[in-house]
Amino acid sequence: MAGLRIHSVLVTGANRGIGLGLVQHFLGMPNPPQWVFASCRAPTGQRAQELQHLTSKHRNLVIIPLEVTDPASIKAAAARVGEHLGGSGLTLLINNAGTAKGNSLDNETLEDMTQIYTTNTIGPLLMGQAFLPLLKKAAQGSPGSALSCSRAAIINMSSYAGSITDVYVWEYGEVPSYRCSKAALNMLTKCQSLRYKEDGVLCVALHPGWVQTDMGSAGPHKPPLTVDESVRGMLKVLSSLSEKDTGTFLNWEGKIIPW
Ligand code: NDP
Repeated sequence: MAGLRIHSVLVTGANRGIGLGLVQHFLGMPNPPQWVFASCRAPTGQRAQELQHLTSKHRNLVIIPLEVTDPASIKAAAARVGEHLGGSGLTLLINNAGTAKGNSLDNETLEDMTQIYTTNTIGPLLMGQAFLPLLKKAAQGSPGSALSCSRAAIINMSSYAGSITDVYVWEYGEVPSYRCSKAALNMLTKCQSLRYKEDGVLCVALHPGWVQTDMGSAGPHKPPLTVDESVRGMLKVLSSLSEKDTGTFLNWEGKIIPW
């Protein structure tokens, strides 16, 4: 984590689970970012209490209302973040918000396929588009031309469940809508990496491990990783990413996952 020097970061789905853990770790860094933007759907709601509590202790933390399936909400969030940043750019965009339904192939529906694809795949696409000007600004304002998370980056929170080669934990659940959305998110990450390289923006798909959150603990089996362990590992990975890693699919330990 020592190599990670981030001026500003935006985490989506930051009110609970892995998103909240990321925000807590960014705030607790020896060199914390100047701005930590924690976005969530209902900033004043019951589920955002922990975030609200954190804002009273950290002046660099700003809660941004954001529904990732709503283009108007994304646009408004980008404008708000831009206002806070003044003339500077956004270093790191972490598309963490995600959703899943424990469906099987037999009971999967048009509605669930659509809703999960919209949240897990289209959301990160629209976020990348809306925040690109701020990410570009960060890249341009950073010394050197090498790609890194300290310069400008998009991190898409993917899942090993989206690996077509390994079809991770198939025996625990078919979840076609979730698997398809993450496989598509991986392709989106590759596309973003190819297109945004010229803008100085590194793009990676990251599997956080199987983690003890509302989503990770939804089935009958207890996930092996705590949020803390997952986030510590991922931040170490982020600190080590360079040019050669853009467009890859990695896990929380930095190992390459087969597409
Ligand atoms: P949680 O279910 O604990 O949290 C999901 C977060 O996403 C919540 O903050 C939720 O907000 C937010 N969210 C969901 N839909 C939207 C939306 N439409 N707009 C804005 N925010 C939204 O999940 P995790 O913390 O476990 O997962 C985080 C990411 O990691 C996800 O992308 C997930 O797919 C991925 N992942 C998780 C694994 C695990 O084992 N936990 C394994 C592999 C990948 P709200 O409170 O408003 O619902």
